[in-house]
Amino acid sequence: MYLPRRIQHCRVCGSRAEYRVPTDDNRERATCTVCAEIHYENPLNVVGTVPVWGDQVLLCRRNIEPRFGFWTLPAGFMEFGETTAEGALRETVEEAGARVEMQGLFTVLNVVRVGQVHLFYRARMLDTHLDPGPETIEARLFREDEVPWDELAFRTVRDTLRFYFDDRRLGQFSVHAGDIV
Ligand SMILES: [Zn+2]
Repeated sequence: MYLPRRIQHCRVCGSRAEYRVPTDDNRERATCTVCAEIHYENPLNVVGTVPVWGDQVLLCRRNIEPRFGFWTLPAGFMEFGETTAEGALRETVEEAGARVEMQGLFTVLNVVRVGQVHLFYRARMLDTHLDPGPETIEARLFREDEVPWDELAFRTVRDTLRFYFDDRRLGQFSVHAGDIV
């Protein structure tokens, strides 16, 4: 089981926090040793797109850790106040500067090891103008036979691209759910 053990200090009073099982709970939570505040931690959603232009997909080369210099689909942590699709669109604009029309949900991939769920949407690029943001070294389009499979940043990106090209061959896109172990 994934135990992040990230919280060392209380977010309310700043005192030391300890991992304990609260009354009527069944797992350890970061609990303040002074004011008893309980800090719940839950998995995070990572939302992104598969931007498509004709027979090409858009990938971004990461200008940030982790996986600096590796290629990824535009994606990032979902923010409060937005839906998963809105977050995916926002990340596509921020990381690639691409203008896209959002299409259907495509993959839902659990990454239990790091406490994340990755959701990718298909997106149709409206033009080929790109304006990568500071988190991206470069953004460019790849045909299937050009995809740098050995230089992809994350398993969820690799799986999503494989599902995409497989579905495209079939001529029908469906939603794919899976677990990255
Ligand atoms: Zn406290």
